[in-house]
Amino acid sequence: MVIDCHGHYTTAPKQLQAFRDGQVAGLSDPEKPPPVLSAISDDELRESVQPQLQFQSDRGTDVTIFSPRASVMGHHIGDARTSLAWTRHCNDLIHRVCELFPNNFVGVCQLPQTPSAPLANCLDELRRCVEQLGFIGCNVNPDPSGGMWTAKPLTDRFWYPFYEVLVELDVPAMVHVSGTCNPNFHTTGSHYINADVTAFMQFITGDLFRDFPTLRMIVPHGGGAAPYHWGRYRGLAQDNKRPPLDEMMRGNVFFDTCVYHQAGIDLLLKVVPVDNILFGSEMVGAVRSIDPTTGFYFDDTKRYIDAAAISDADKQKIFEGNSRKVFPRFRAA
Ligand SMILES: [Zn+2]
Repeated sequence: MVIDCHGHYTTAPKQLQAFRDGQVAGLSDPEKPPPVLSAISDDELRESVQPQLQFQSDRGTDVTIFSPRASVMGHHIGDARTSLAWTRHCNDLIHRVCELFPNNFVGVCQLPQTPSAPLANCLDELRRCVEQLGFIGCNVNPDPSGGMWTAKPLTDRFWYPFYEVLVELDVPAMVHVSGTCNPNFHTTGSHYINADVTAFMQFITGDLFRDFPTLRMIVPHGGGAAPYHWGRYRGLAQDNKRPPLDEMMRGNVFFDTCVYHQAGIDLLLKVVPVDNILFGSEMVGAVRSIDPTTGFYFDDTKRYIDAAAISDADKQKIFEGNSRKVFPRFRAA
């Protein structure tokens, strides 16, 4: 089985965005009644995920661990009520898609984070999604300010109540920022990758996994630039009297394979322990075009793993085994 650990619902019916537009419009006019999400039929949902189903079929992947569109989580927009209403609609639609296509999609939730409210607001929604909707993980935004980085580092005790619930529910979190309101950063080109590296460096310098030995965090997009700069991070860990990277990551930190060329995947596989790599593509999303040098989609990452010079046993870990360990609720889902 090929499990894609990183897919977003980027093709949701237009009613969802209309709701969001209504929310944003209402922020400048408090007299306006809050928007209502217009009805979305099962047929519209079925139609909306045809691109994902087609890519699964064309590329030979089986099931996608599926979350709301990350770039529009927009935790910096509005307040806690805005974020909660938006998040619940997004998560509910993921749930409906997973119910319609239980063999193709398994749910992962977004959280109703907001810079102006305590993290406690997120815990009820996380529990609802895991315990009632059958979700198997969540995306956590290390920068709910949307590019201003006003939040505490992920290793700060601010986040500990959240980690306690993750451990209790036995679900992992993917560290995933959203869109940015800082024009210096392109959302998918730099903000995403910056956040991956930022989170990874925080993990090196903090004591998160000493305090939560069973906590599992996924750093997406191949770990950002971390594998390319592996020597720098190994050296920084050593200079700062921190555990070696392989030891720090063991059982706790995972990278996906959302790296959109063969040389990048080969590097990832060369420097990062195979047990810490999960197959992912992030389709349909970050890069949507075809690589003219190969004739295949940039985000058809299965091709790169298939072509990599590693054993079949290692490929099986990346495609399936590691995800089953990181997402123990996958089996039940
Ligand atoms: Zn993503």
